[in-house]
Amino acid sequence: MTKKYLMVGAGLSGAVIGRHLAEAGHDITIVDSRDHIGGNCHTARDPDSGIMLHVYGPHIFHTDDDEVWGYVNRFEEFLPFKNRVKTTSRDPSGKRSVFSLPINLHTINQFFGKTMRPDEAKRFIAEEQADSSIVVPKTFEEQALRFVGKDLYEAFFKGYTIKQWGMHPSELPASILKRLPVRFNYDDNYFFHKFQGMPKNGYSAMIRAILDHPGITVHLNTSFARAMGEGYDHVFYSGPLDEYFDFELGRLGYRTLDFERFDYDGDYQGCAVMNYGEESVPYTRITEHKHFAPWEEHESSVCYREFSRSAEFGDIPYYPIRQLKEKELLSAYFDLANATRGVTFVGRLGTYRYLDMDVTIREALDTARGFEAKMTDGEEAPAFFIRPV
Ligand code: FAD
Ligand code: UDP
Repeated sequence: MTKKYLMVGAGLSGAVIGRHLAEAGHDITIVDSRDHIGGNCHTARDPDSGIMLHVYGPHIFHTDDDEVWGYVNRFEEFLPFKNRVKTTSRDPSGKRSVFSLPINLHTINQFFGKTMRPDEAKRFIAEEQADSSIVVPKTFEEQALRFVGKDLYEAFFKGYTIKQWGMHPSELPASILKRLPVRFNYDDNYFFHKFQGMPKNGYSAMIRAILDHPGITVHLNTSFARAMGEGYDHVFYSGPLDEYFDFELGRLGYRTLDFERFDYDGDYQGCAVMNYGEESVPYTRITEHKHFAPWEEHESSVCYREFSRSAEFGDIPYYPIRQLKEKELLSAYFDLANATRGVTFVGRLGTYRYLDMDVTIREALDTARGFEAKMTDGEEAPAFFIRPV
């Protein structure tokens, strides 16, 4: 029997769940407070230069998930793209230079002025740099000191992380750094996933194609209010969890980003992403958007300087700060949500987690399928299909 479902958010989560349920024969209404679809993955061509802009920061698709890779390729053509990040910082003598990230053999040899082979570099880092007195690293700082040592940590991680998180690395969990590999070869691919690429016509084109189904209606510039849920059989909410409850228990902390755009005649930095390791440089990185589409040709260039700060009321929430305080509050919201009927919380904001796009799609597909199974069995859908705490 056809049911009516309301999706809050026309980002990846709302689009993928909406599409799945529309294909199962249901009526889907999607509302989004923004004037465009795509959520934070939104891309748009700059009207002056024609360059495809990653409006909410650089997005590179990478996954090991065959089904998810098949899914995105069903809706948009993906072209090969490897993220090769550079960073500007100082070597141990204080000389400013451009280095390769993630830390690899090139970075190590250049930084220490050496010509080591892989085994020699591994031994050098283990015996002369790494702090082996740290057995089980708990903090970001300990993780860095344990695996690369003080010099590389201070040049590439310390200043960047203080700028990115507004906290000293000794206050942050080791898990944040564990996302970045250290390589003792010349592989400078930022990711190690089997599938990596960029949608030829941008992420918004892909999400538009996902939403293009007769069972789906999208209303932009429409903010959700709880009363809107009446008349629907179920609500899927991909907005901020605390906002759904009018912040009644308090606010979950986020970092937000400010992008300072500047235009350049030519090639500004020769790569898509240039990080800045020094704390004295106020921004974390500069992205040059035409390099995200190397198959296109553009004479002029559009760049974003990226600044990170604590999110205030009205700012776009980007990175959840999952410190102890926030985890306790999250747990309280989790209980509140579980006591609420008729709504399922999804996506990066609904579950208050940093989620890559492929994980977002995987969870959205699993949620839609889990939901269908519950409906078939006549059971009530839970507030979370993925436990966020
Ligand atoms: P969102 O994209 O945030 O969508 C939620 C939508 O809900 C938004 O459109 C919002 O306007 C709407 N909404 C919220 N509240 C309301 C309301 N009350 N009423 C109506 N609408 C509402 N992932 C990668 O795989 N690779 C990358 O390189 C990568 N880079 C990233 C870089 C940055 C700076 C950030 C912050 C994230 C990056 N990600 C990357 C992650 C990626 O952005 C997320 O996986 C993706 O955006 C999650 O989609 P979502 O639909 O859950 O959330
Ligand atoms: N990081 C750093 N220096 C860099 C790049 C990353 O110190 O040049 C740290 C930073 O704290 C960041 C974390 O490593 O949050 C994970 O890096 P990633 O590139 O995954 O950052 P994100 O995608 O979260 O911005």
